[in-house]
Amino acid sequence: MLPPLETLPSDDRLPERAEIVVIGGGIVGASAAYYLAKKGHRVALLEKGLVGAEQSSRNWGWCRQQNRDARELPLAQRSLALWDGLRAETGMDLGFRRSGLVYVTTDPADLAQWEKWGEFARQRQVDTRMLSAAEARALAAGSTGQWIGGVHSPTDGIADPSRAAPALAAAARRLGASIHQHCAARGLETTGGAVSGVVTERGTIRTATVLCAGGAWASMFCRWHGIDFPQAGVRSTVFRTAPLPDVVKGGFYCSDFSLARRLDGGYTVSMPAAGRLDVTPQGLRYARAFWPAFRSRRKALHVRLGGSFLRGPEALARWRLDQVSPFERMRVLDPAPNLSAIEATLARVRACYPELAGIAVAQSWCGWIDTTPDMVPVISPLDRLPGLHLAAGFSGHGFGIGPAAGQLAADLIVGDPPAVDPYPFRHARLVDGSPITPPGAI
Ligand SMILES: Cc1cc2nc3c(=O)[nH]c(=O)nc-3n(C[C@H](O)[C@H](O)[C@H](O)COP(=O)(O)OP(=O)(O)OC[C@H]3O[C@@H](n4cnc5c(N)ncnc54)[C@H](O)[C@@H]3O)c2cc1C
Repeated sequence: MLPPLETLPSDDRLPERAEIVVIGGGIVGASAAYYLAKKGHRVALLEKGLVGAEQSSRNWGWCRQQNRDARELPLAQRSLALWDGLRAETGMDLGFRRSGLVYVTTDPADLAQWEKWGEFARQRQVDTRMLSAAEARALAAGSTGQWIGGVHSPTDGIADPSRAAPALAAAARRLGASIHQHCAARGLETTGGAVSGVVTERGTIRTATVLCAGGAWASMFCRWHGIDFPQAGVRSTVFRTAPLPDVVKGGFYCSDFSLARRLDGGYTVSMPAAGRLDVTPQGLRYARAFWPAFRSRRKALHVRLGGSFLRGPEALARWRLDQVSPFERMRVLDPAPNLSAIEATLARVRACYPELAGIAVAQSWCGWIDTTPDMVPVISPLDRLPGLHLAAGFSGHGFGIGPAAGQLAADLIVGDPPAVDPYPFRHARLVDGSPITPPGAI
């Protein structure tokens, strides 16, 4: 089922030429288009379905520095600063507020892990504070949990996934970018070994510069051009509620569930330990690269064989540029939510927060989280095909860092000084045979 999503109009006419073509209208592509247009470049943004309709509208909305991988932290910090300014800059409310995030636990191992992360984070000026048992219970007032402690990041926040990507795309459009929805990019044309055009289902756009920000579809797109990009998807279910008592101001996390207060007075509820990994041809291809990440998270993952072996972003697929491609066969990747996990979560929320006894599902959905073997994205030119850049593999963190990720991609494309050091996000680290650095995010 489609989660709530604001829509924006498309431009009717596909341009014959564009200085830069961005493929994928999630938060990363929309942000890149916005920052490129802001720098004065002529951009066309292509989206096979609707802007924001895949991961970027299905997430919890958390924008956090807390528990980030050290490699990603500068991007998270930069992004929070951008989120702060985007409302005034674009004239649109993306729903961002620094409402703080609270993590609580009954497990000493969690506390040890958060404490260790906190030591490093405080050196990087992250506003994060360990909570004693009494403080955790005070911040989770009204909950029955026997919390032994927690961690609080008061200046992290939440934005509205139903608004953010469409708002950034609309802002890009106002700066001169053209937006083309229901317009899949089937592949690239090359001249002399470099990009010279994008073939879409509605015709070809001549360009020498392309950013692939295709989320879960990026590996399939790259593979068609002979470029390896190890990527694996994890299904994750979410539901929202009608307005309920205000037990949590921002985000609340415990091992059984997470809550994010919505602007409409309801909650976005998720179940961190109920991810599902489908066995797919792409998954088998990259099994070795993903093994360490899988092993470290295996308790939170259920492995299944299902329809995604044959359909969707990780299936076997062959197509020609003059044929309907897999991208247009699935306009919106909309996996079925896990209903039994939802039932179990409702019971856990009621037991933990008696004030939320009346909780019910207003709407549920599922998202396909695109991950890399080290759980850090690629934001990088692709050496094998001059003119092609990649920004994908955001591994469950891309919404919060989306604005800065798009800005960094834009800087790299036009050769401006990068917003943050791009080295940790280079594509080569995943394919040059060097050992995969273990994921550092919690
Ligand atoms: C359940 C869930 C909870 C999450 N919670 C959080 C959170 O709290 N905080 C956080 O920071 N992150 C979170 N994430 C992760 C976050 O949502 C993603 O990392 C982020 O949205 C990725 O953005 P994207 O633009 O790369 O991809 P997407 O939003 O998936 O966008 C990619 C777009 O590219 C389009 N596309 C693909 N191929 C083509 C093509 N060939 N032609 C045209 N268009 C194409 C697709 O249709 C899609 O719209 C969560 C994700 C999920 C699923």
